[in-house]
Amino acid sequence: MTVIAIDGPAGAGKSTAAKQLAEVLALTYVNTGSLYRAVALAARRAGIAPENVTREFLQTLRLEYRDGKLLLNGEDPGDALRSAETAQGASRVSALPFVREYLLPVQRNAALREWIVMEGRDIGTVIFPDAQCKFFVTASIEERARRRMAQTSEISSDATLESVMEEIRIRDERDSTRATAPLKQADDAVFIDTTGKSIADVNAELISYLPPELQARRSH
Ligand code: C5P
Repeated sequence: MTVIAIDGPAGAGKSTAAKQLAEVLALTYVNTGSLYRAVALAARRAGIAPENVTREFLQTLRLEYRDGKLLLNGEDPGDALRSAETAQGASRVSALPFVREYLLPVQRNAALREWIVMEGRDIGTVIFPDAQCKFFVTASIEERARRRMAQTSEISSDATLESVMEEIRIRDERDSTRATAPLKQADDAVFIDTTGKSIADVNAELISYLPPELQARRSH
């Protein structure tokens, strides 16, 4: 499968690394967290708690990727996807097995033609177990919280390093212990710890593990 799968916990530097890699290699970048976030956002707008999302509710949603961008009912949900509330909602809806089942073909359909970089929690384990390149990207919890603090849209104005660390711990715990497709490293994934590393260093490290045909696409 011509997929570069990048999995890992919240705030590990996954999105930055995956986006950069896709840009440098001129590949489509697909962020799968957006799908779970979109379900959580749509539920909140409909006044439904994340745990109370039903199969019927999912049937009312139209989720699709266009040029790597997620559309919810034909519209770009924009910044509303990135709030801390939506992130927690996403983590809660993502524990529902039928939500994961519903989102599986949306993710698989995103990779029908050419190489893509797909980022999430279970890409290398469940969505594309045959992906040719798999990475598990992580960082220390302090570093992940610091990075989250720097992304102001993701945190509330009264957030502290401690409160952000706690938010990440809750999400990690829920994501790693759920019964269906928990966050875990695929046996054949390359482990990358981004703690203390620059984006350029992480990028170079990722590229060094790619097959020559992909390395040759490197533009800058
Ligand atoms: O990556 P992001 O922070 O946008 O993901 C939001 C939430 O969506 C995660 O905390 C996780 O619970 C869920 N998720 C998932 N599987 C994926 C991507 C995200 O369960 N492949």
